[in-house]
This record gives sequence, C-alpha cells and structure tokens, in this order.
Amino acid sequence: MTDLYSVRMHARAKNDHLCGAERLQTRDGLEAACLELVRRALAHERGVADQVRISIDRVDPGTVVRVPLPTLETWLCDDADRGRQLALRSLVEAGVPQDVASRAMARLAAGPAPGGGVMRGAMLVDVASGERFEPDPARGVRASRMDLDPDTVDALGRGLAALDLDNRHVREALVLAAKVLAAPGMVAELCWSDDPSYTAGYVAAPGFGYRRFPHLKPAGCPLGGRVFFIDRTQISLAALIDYLERTPVLAGGPVRLLPARQPEEA
Ligand code: AMP
Repeated sequence: MTDLYSVRMHARAKNDHLCGAERLQTRDGLEAACLELVRRALAHERGVADQVRISIDRVDPGTVVRVPLPTLETWLCDDADRGRQLALRSLVEAGVPQDVASRAMARLAAGPAPGGGVMRGAMLVDVASGERFEPDPARGVRASRMDLDPDTVDALGRGLAALDLDNRHVREALVLAAKVLAAPGMVAELCWSDDPSYTAGYVAAPGFGYRRFPHLKPAGCPLGGRVFFIDRTQISLAALIDYLERTPVLAGGPVRLLPARQPEEA
C-alpha cells in the first residue's frame, strides 16, 4: 500500500473548542484535504476561529487496520423529544442500563464539558457504574487517524445519495462509528452534533450498526457531543484510548444502507 498521512484539524474560538476533523490520505490527496479542513474551520457556524491547527503525520501502511462500515438505518421521528426516546431505547437494546443511558444523555443535553460547554472529544462512560473515565473531562477522548477505504468511497456516495444522505456529517460519522465499534469492550456510541443547524444524531452498537434519528436536538441548539459506553471489565483503559486516538483505521467493505422507517412502538 502507498504511504498514508494522518491529517488532523482543530480550531478554537475564544479558548474553546470550535471544531475538528480527521482524515487519512495518500500523498496525492493531502493538499486538497488540508484546504477543505481549513475552509471548514474558517466558516464554522458556531463562531469565528481564533486558531486553526493542522497536523500531518506520516502513517506506516503496515499498521493500518481495516474495519467494516456499520449498517445504516434511519428511525424516523418528528422532534427531539421523540428522537431522544428512541435513542434511549436503542442504548438499552445495546446493553446500556437505562439509568446510565439517561444520565449520559442529560449530560450531553446540558453541555458535557465541566463548565457546561462542548468537548473536543467524547465522554467515556462505564456501563456498569455510569462513571466517566476520560483522563481530561474538558477534552474527552478524540477518535483520530481514520478515513473511508478509497475502494468504498464511490459505492458509499451512491448509496447515501439514493437516501438523500450524502453529506459530510453522515460520511464522517459512519467512519468514526466504524472505528469506535471495532474497539474491544465498546457497548455503544451516542452522538448528536454541536452544529446548531444539524439536528440529526445516532446510536451505534455492534448488534444493530448505525441507527440514525433525524432529530436528537432542537434546531439552533449549539450543544452536542459524543458518549462512548464501555464495559470496563473487558478492557485496559490505556489500550482503548491508544486504539481510539492513535491506531490508523480505514473503514470499508460492503455498503449496507437500509431505507428510513417508522420504528415499531416499544
Ligand atoms: P460533530 O458531529 O463534529 O458536530 O461533533 C459532535 C461532538 O462529538 C463534538 O462536540 C465532540 O464532542 C464529539 N466529537 C467530534 N468528533 C469526535 C471524534 N473524532 N472523536 C470523539 N468525539 C468527537
């Protein structure tokens, strides 16, 4: 395989996290990826960037791990209250106790960082105790060094376009969920965006893949975040964080996208 480069972008505004993104690119795609990420940071809807950092690190191709893309399905809902009910149900289905899931959702809704703002990464929540295990609760754990397998880009683009979902939020979140679900001891992931105009979110779990909800927060709300629910009895925390932050991953394989549907009543 040709050399790959990890590209990471992080932008801050008034000393707070504004946005970030990560890619794994070949030498040929490197400049275009940097340009796109700088433009994204400078045009973010949550504010004006005071600082934009781009880091580029060459990745040894022999260390790249390939993981499958999760099956995507949309569960329709009309508003955020219903979306959160469905997300809670999905977390319980994945094996997260209801009280732990509810508390984590309340933290995301209130702003998961200590002062109530958004974090740069995800909360790491133990499913047994509900305890948080991020070494730095203001930053969280940021999954990094991942991208779509170049062989899957076209098929995924066509499949998502047929469902009217071919946007970067969905593409990047699918890749991130693919990496996260392949981590040992991962029970589920919950996400909704901090972009005020992007109300959709998802729950991902090894058993059902990536379940999307069009509304997990009201339009205009600048708070969002991610929770990685883990089974601490199965993992070494240091190894999990190292995998999430440092192991290069390409997500690919068959593209499995299901049509949107109304969920059955519980
Ligand atoms: P976004 O979907 O980019 O709006 O991100 C929503 C929230 O998810 C952010 O506020 C972060 O807290 C978290 N997040 C975004 N990207 C990552 C990542 N690569 N790893 C872990 N958490 C992330």
